[in-house]
Amino acid sequence: MSLLIANIAHGWIGDAAGTRLTGAIRVADGRIAEIGALTPRPGEEVLDATGCVVAPGLVNTHHHLFQSALKGLALNSALDAWLEAVPYTYWPRLDEEALRISARIGLAELALSGATTVCDHHYVFSDRYDYDPAEVLFDEARRLGLRFVLARGGMARGRDFGPGVPPAPTESVAAFLDGIARAAGRWHDPSEAALTRVACAPTTPNFNFAPDALPEIAQEARRLGLRLHAHLSENTAYAAQTLRAFGQRPVPWLADCGWLGEDVWFAHLVDLSPEEVALLAESGTAMAHCPQANARLGSGIAPAPALHRAGGVVSLAVDGAGANEAADMGAALYSAFTLHRASQGVPAIDPATALHWATMGGARALGLPAIGALAPGMAADIALFDLSAPRNFGLHDPATAPVVTGAARVRHSLIGGRIVVRDGQLPGLDLGTLSEDAARLTARLARAPEPEPA
Ligand code: ZN
Repeated sequence: MSLLIANIAHGWIGDAAGTRLTGAIRVADGRIAEIGALTPRPGEEVLDATGCVVAPGLVNTHHHLFQSALKGLALNSALDAWLEAVPYTYWPRLDEEALRISARIGLAELALSGATTVCDHHYVFSDRYDYDPAEVLFDEARRLGLRFVLARGGMARGRDFGPGVPPAPTESVAAFLDGIARAAGRWHDPSEAALTRVACAPTTPNFNFAPDALPEIAQEARRLGLRLHAHLSENTAYAAQTLRAFGQRPVPWLADCGWLGEDVWFAHLVDLSPEEVALLAESGTAMAHCPQANARLGSGIAPAPALHRAGGVVSLAVDGAGANEAADMGAALYSAFTLHRASQGVPAIDPATALHWATMGGARALGLPAIGALAPGMAADIALFDLSAPRNFGLHDPATAPVVTGAARVRHSLIGGRIVVRDGQLPGLDLGTLSEDAARLTARLARAPEPEPA
């Protein structure tokens, strides 16, 4: 069975040069078969791209889906106070239903804004839970048909946020590695167009593990064929802590721990010295750039354009919805496009570069070479952004809409050739019901008693 995306007037390949695409795309067996001036074959399904911008499906390289029911809390707190008040206060209340509804909210929000691949960094695993969070996350992604990477997080040392805050969910290094191996055995598909992947993702290496555990963790992940991911240098406190504790800034310190390379990507990297930017670029270590969460928490603006100019890999991510109430890819594109201009001037970034970060950059960060670009032979992960809202009217170059208008929304999207969003809807997901479930859940979370310490 093949499908034709016809009448493409505004399209992007996804490359760094911003190459445009027009005509039609034929999809067969989950892949892009041909691109050009094509006409429908008898019996072929046709998706009309009139009034749409066609681009590779967007890749979100860092998220915390459990936070989608924790939006709008601690709105006036910076990172540490926010961590204390939101994830580290609420994590024990996260029963299976809460995680399921939260994940469903976040995945729906992402899919409707053009995401086709989502990486979730889930870092609360505990024997307080009577369910496996990894199973819930994969299950919800599968229900919507999204490509899903679980960055299996965790910590051996919790940060102490003081009285009144539940102790952080910790595991021994052996239990952490065992959890990763079990998840990988169940869901990790190493193939280039995998629908499910697992990565090894200590929550924040400098705070959550003894330094001598980090080389062992990297070695074990590589032995299992897994990529490495973590939070790093989200604000200036990270460098201050690693300088104090280990005598080095975070990136050279992690280089000595065997934690840089083409199979590693870090979230944030807001506070980087020029030497650290060069080290990341030389080693092929990727950035998951989270401009909205960094802005919302007052953490700063990551030097993503500098890493890009140095030949490094930049990808785009929304981060958890608890740290930014618009955890969708349209808002992330717009934030990246505008914030760097505000701080460094207009030459800092153009619309094509923002889109490149969210497509090919994401594919490189996650090590999924079959996605992120529209070309024959690539997996058919394709977003058709809808131009029918008034904010897109009057645009002289409509192809730029998904980046410059700040509210990208898809009419249709495909993942591996399968239609996942059709006519702006997610088949099989009733948003009215989800809205009611969300309201019930937020009310329940708000009135849940403070959990007893373990
Ligand atoms: Zn994060």
